[in-house]
Amino acid sequence: MTVRTRIAPSPTGDPHVGTAYVALFNLCFAKQHQGEFILRIEDTDQTRSTRASEQMIFDSLRWLGIEWSEGPDVGGPHAPYRQSERADIYQRYVQQLLDDGHAFKCYRTTEELNELREQRKAEGNFSALKQDDLLLDEAEIARREAAGAPYVVRMKVPTEGTCIVKDMLRGDIELDWAQVDAQILMKSDGLPTYHLANVVDDHLMEITHVLRGEEWINSASKHQLLYDYFGWDMPVLCHLPLLRNPDKTKLSKRKNPTSINYYRKMGFLPQAVLNYLGRMGWSMPDEREKFTLEEMQAEFDIQRVSLGGPVFDLDKLSWLNSVYLRDDLDDAQFINAMQQWAFNSDYIQQLLPEIRPRVQLLSDVMPLAGHFFAGIPTLEADDFEAINIDQDRQVALLQFLIWRLEQLPEWNKASIMHQVQQLAAHFELKMKVILAPVFVAITGQLSSTSVLDAMAILGSDITRARLRNAIDILGGVSKKKAKALEKEYKGIEFDA
Ligand code: GLU
Repeated sequence: MTVRTRIAPSPTGDPHVGTAYVALFNLCFAKQHQGEFILRIEDTDQTRSTRASEQMIFDSLRWLGIEWSEGPDVGGPHAPYRQSERADIYQRYVQQLLDDGHAFKCYRTTEELNELREQRKAEGNFSALKQDDLLLDEAEIARREAAGAPYVVRMKVPTEGTCIVKDMLRGDIELDWAQVDAQILMKSDGLPTYHLANVVDDHLMEITHVLRGEEWINSASKHQLLYDYFGWDMPVLCHLPLLRNPDKTKLSKRKNPTSINYYRKMGFLPQAVLNYLGRMGWSMPDEREKFTLEEMQAEFDIQRVSLGGPVFDLDKLSWLNSVYLRDDLDDAQFINAMQQWAFNSDYIQQLLPEIRPRVQLLSDVMPLAGHFFAGIPTLEADDFEAINIDQDRQVALLQFLIWRLEQLPEWNKASIMHQVQQLAAHFELKMKVILAPVFVAITGQLSSTSVLDAMAILGSDITRARLRNAIDILGGVSKKKAKALEKEYKGIEFDA
């Protein structure tokens, strides 16, 4: 048997460090067994998936040095590797489950489902909704069918007992069937849900081992049942511990930058980031902190993964990066790293329209535009004092801007400007005034290049990190204040 592992990210946002972490462990596991590591794109959520996000996943994994032998961009014997291009395959398998009586069409409307849930809650029944709860009488089914009413396909799920799922690290995991809904397998638009597509693809793509984040444990019982229904062998499962913030909460972009783009733009070296990810719950037999991908692959042993939540600590990563910069790179490599990072003509080309009209001498460039070659500016609360807005309101508008920017599907000057304009209307401030604190937060100066252009060029990660930094400098947001801000924010009507 050839070991085959995969990473199956959904392209719905920034490329997450958690994706790279899981990819790294899958890659090492496969290589340790002379196997294959493949990449599949799970884009069945058509409203949230974008090609731009998919491209960022490819780029950032490659930047880190992670390569796959099959995938949407490299092809392979099991193509297509993008789930949105496999709809007919899932249709066939859903039909098989329907024919075998393992799944059923459910014509229940959202209102009916809500009503059912309410009713059960009132009766003190908190167990999941099963096939019998959802069943309509035959005449009603026939009537809805004849009327062409939308339906979903759900799988039948046992009403009681436990499901035992085997995990390489956790042993037997017991999951209670009573808590598992008759899971939707196919939505009314004819596209599969994660569960069906994931199981069908892992089987067809001959995946032997699934190493994924522990947030998927609860899905494992449904997957196991689907494998049984199809009569297929289930891959061996291994749920890796979730990355955590230093306060042990789940790594989230509210507390820590989670996008690989952020680390790239801040000037971390890919080999240092990859090395650090390798230390998340795993260690070399001799416990050394610095090692290469090849060394990790040579020594890899999944049983050495410890389940205590690994902390993704920016200070430790920065330290490791400094070791690489100091000890690892010779002068030529150091210069090369600087060039790759920002001192290259592609990047400088983007800045030219900002710089050219504003300088007399080349020596004016750095004082004017140094923030394009920097991470987070050093600021003090005093820097915001001259601005004609209460500092409290400055915090509010910076926070609202972060929230708006977090959900922007496209990052460009026009889309950023549109958000600032809407906030200007809410705060009843002129654009020029509302942009003042944003300007200081982003450029760290009182005069520099255009701030909207700067945000567009710097990208969403650095922009949001600088805005967050400004909020901290202005005293931060306490829990109580955050609640009030959220309330105010929810009351604003944004058009997009
Ligand atoms: N599409 C899922 C994700 O976004 C894949 C989970 C799995 O590996 O089964 O992570």
